[in-house]
Amino acid sequence: MSTKRGTKKRRKKRYRIKKRFFVFLLIFILCIFGMVKCTAWLMSDEDSGSIQDHGTEGADDEIRRTAIDSTEEWKLVLVNKNHKLPADHSVETAPVAGRSGYQFDSRAIGSLNQMIEDAASEGLEIEVCSAYRTIEYQENLIKAQVAKYVAQGMSQTDAEVRTATEIIEPGASEHNLGLAVDLVAKSYQHLEEDQENTAENKWLQANCTNYGFILRYPKGKQGITGIIYEPWHFRYVGEAAAKEIMEQGICLEEYLGEY
Ligand SMILES: [Zn+2]
Repeated sequence: MSTKRGTKKRRKKRYRIKKRFFVFLLIFILCIFGMVKCTAWLMSDEDSGSIQDHGTEGADDEIRRTAIDSTEEWKLVLVNKNHKLPADHSVETAPVAGRSGYQFDSRAIGSLNQMIEDAASEGLEIEVCSAYRTIEYQENLIKAQVAKYVAQGMSQTDAEVRTATEIIEPGASEHNLGLAVDLVAKSYQHLEEDQENTAENKWLQANCTNYGFILRYPKGKQGITGIIYEPWHFRYVGEAAAKEIMEQGICLEEYLGEY
């Protein structure tokens, strides 16, 4: 009997040990499972977090822009229909070399003349179509156009509305700033998209940044600039900004974060 009782006790003990072992094993398995789950959850969150972070970082870093000093801010003045120049805006100008009647900001005239001269040394003949225009000139241009339509029988209001779609209002044109110039090939003096097919325009688009100029109204940016693609319109912004803008394929509004 005593032996039987002893065997029973030993069995019970073994059973308890086994039970404990299985309970521990179960807890251990659950812990491992929990840890794996937790890590997986944390990792997926990190991933989605990092994607979001990249998104935010992207928005900040999207535009590469070197800080400029205050003495150079004149190069990056933004002019468009939302950023109009004051009516009394004035700028010191100098004549474009060899082209009578065309004036440009005297601080950037050297770069413009050099660009035209270097193109000429490669056999490319560039003509200036428009450079600096005073705000007063812009006003007179509008008055003349309105008068023309009124003379054709249009009402004053209709004539003004129509003119507004054709001529940029005074102060909202980059030509009023003194840093914009319209350049065309001598062999094709039309302000049309086909201007881009001339050797002169191809050279300008490829080399303008070396002289501090950008193609101000690029293809596909009309939604931001409000102006159609104008392969002939170049704007001086300084060499560093010009390279950053053109290399990134952006427009001035995007570069300045003003749109
Ligand atoms: Zn222009």
